[in-house]
Formats: sequence, structure tokens, C-alpha cells
Amino acid sequence: MMARQKGIFYLTLFLILGTCTLFFAFECRYLAVQLSPAIPVFAAMLFLFSMATLLRTSFSDPGVIPRALPDEAAFIEMEIEATNGAVPQGQRPPPRIKNFQINNQIVKLKYCYTCKIFRPPRASHCSICDNCVERFDHHCPWVGNCVGKRNYRYFYLFILSLSLLTIYVFAFNIVYVALKSLKIGFLETLKETPGTYPPLAVEVLICFFTLWSVVGLTGFHTFLVALNQTTNEDIKGSWTGKNRVQNPYSHGNIVKNCCEVLCGPLPPSVLDRRGILPLEESGSRPPSTQEASTSLLPQGPAPIDHLSNEMPEDTSTPEEMPPPEPPEPPQEVMEAEK
Ligand SMILES: [Zn+2]
Ligand SMILES: [Zn+2]
Repeated sequence: MMARQKGIFYLTLFLILGTCTLFFAFECRYLAVQLSPAIPVFAAMLFLFSMATLLRTSFSDPGVIPRALPDEAAFIEMEIEATNGAVPQGQRPPPRIKNFQINNQIVKLKYCYTCKIFRPPRASHCSICDNCVERFDHHCPWVGNCVGKRNYRYFYLFILSLSLLTIYVFAFNIVYVALKSLKIGFLETLKETPGTYPPLAVEVLICFFTLWSVVGLTGFHTFLVALNQTTNEDIKGSWTGKNRVQNPYSHGNIVKNCCEVLCGPLPPSVLDRRGILPLEESGSRPPSTQEASTSLLPQGPAPIDHLSNEMPEDTSTPEEMPPPEPPEPPQEVMEAEK
């Protein structure tokens, strides 16, 4: 499951593979002899773990919600028309929202004009993947995929292990220069190792810039995990803004929140990758959704049934595209684009 923009993902792979290859080829050999053979072993473990979690994040289904089939979409459309009644010419149609009361709170499910479904709570439409994603966190170009309900934990483990790997490589590069300098002096170290100096400089530079960005990002996501919040909710201030609504997903306990986000049960993918749509149906849809032959969202309150512990929120992404078909999109969608 990869998004259309893959270039930055290959850059991520290149930077990690390149830096680690240089580290293993030059500094590790020297440090293993001078200090301990455990240094390359631990580095290899961190490297393999971060690569595994990166690939898992990139190539897994983040929790894509299949679009409505034409007859399902027509049924939803009919239901909305029956509820809203006929809208007089020139008037803006009312926003397409379904309200449910769960745990004494009003749950708002917004209609996605692209997928023709009412999104479950916390879901949002990713404009890059062009799909609605469950528990949408953000779209990460560095991993080339959306980060959502089904791959968030792998994404978090990836940035955590990459942070440790970066700190490790950076620290042992400094140890390497220090050890060499003690023996032959700092300037002599640079002069006597012309073959290793340029790679060392490249490694230190990459690690230095990665340190600030990835370690900072890991800190931010640790904060989000502890609060059981998504990046999307944090950006929109869903639980801090004008509504002053407490985050209904939080257990009020950091350990419980971490357990749920990182160790809770993973829902199975609802995409049928081998599903083939009839020609007349597939012709009317973009290629990215032809694989989805089942619809997760029925028309009634059923989405709530399996999300019954989840609560309402505003779920449109800021980058969401305007609905292509209705001539006058409802105000709610217009506001989300600002
Ligand atoms: Zn959608
Ligand atoms: Zn995406």
C-alpha cells in the first residue's frame, strides 16, 4: 500500500542505508577492535529494527475505508434527500452530518463527497492517497503512506528506533574521532585518514540534521500517544479549541493510553485486494479504489456499533479537496478547507 508520491520514501531509504553502510564500513570496524565487538552488533539490531518498522509502515494498509458502491451511494443520497427535503433553487443545502448520541455525547459523522460515505469518528479523507482513513493521523511523505489506525504503532516504533540509531551513530562517530585524536592528534586524524574523513563528515552532517527533526518528532508523538490523540486532532485543536470538550478517547491515564495505542488489538484490513469490480462500475471510479469491493460503512448507525467507544469530532482534513459533483458544497466542507 503505497501512495502515489514515492520519491521522498526512496530518499528516506537512501539516507538510512547510506549512513549505516558508511558507519559499518569505517568507524564500526575500528571501534569493534579498539572498544568492544558489541558496538556493531547493537547498531545492526537498531538498524534492522528501524528498517523493518519503516517497511511495515510503508507497505501496510493504514486503515483505508472502502468507498460506497454505486447502489450504496445512491441509497445514501436518497436517504439524505429524504431527511433534508427539497432545497429551494439558489439556497445552500444543509451540511451533510449525522448525529448520534453515545455516552451522553453527540457524535457527528461527516459525509465524504469523494468516498460517498459517512466517515466513522476520527476518520479523515487524505487528499494524497484519495481515501478516507480510520483514526487518521497524518500523511507522511517520508514513509510514502498515510499513518492511521492500522500502522500508527509501526510508524511510532520506526521514529523511536530511528532516533536511537541516529543518536548511537552520532555518538560513536564522536568517540571514533576522540579515540583517534588521543593516539595521533586531531589534525593528524583528519590528515592520516583521507579515505575515511569525507564519509565521516557526511555521516555527522546527516545525523546532526536527523537528530533535530526525528528526535523532536518522536517527542511530539510520545506526547500524543500518552494523551491518545492524533496529529490531525492536535493541529485542529479538537480538544482544546472553542468547544472545550475533553478528549473522549483518553483513558485519563498515560499507561492505559500507551497500551491502547501501541498494543491494542489491530482491526483487520477491510480492503479486498483481489476484488474485481464489474467494468461499468470500475469505469466510474478512480483506479485507487478499484481494489475495494466491500463497503465498510452501511447507511444506518452501524458504524457506531464497532466504534462504540469512540466519540465525535470534526474529521475533515485541511488539505481535503472540494467535492467534485455538487455545484454548491455545504458550508462545513468549505470551512474545513480554510
Ligand atoms: Zn473520503
Ligand atoms: Zn495519505
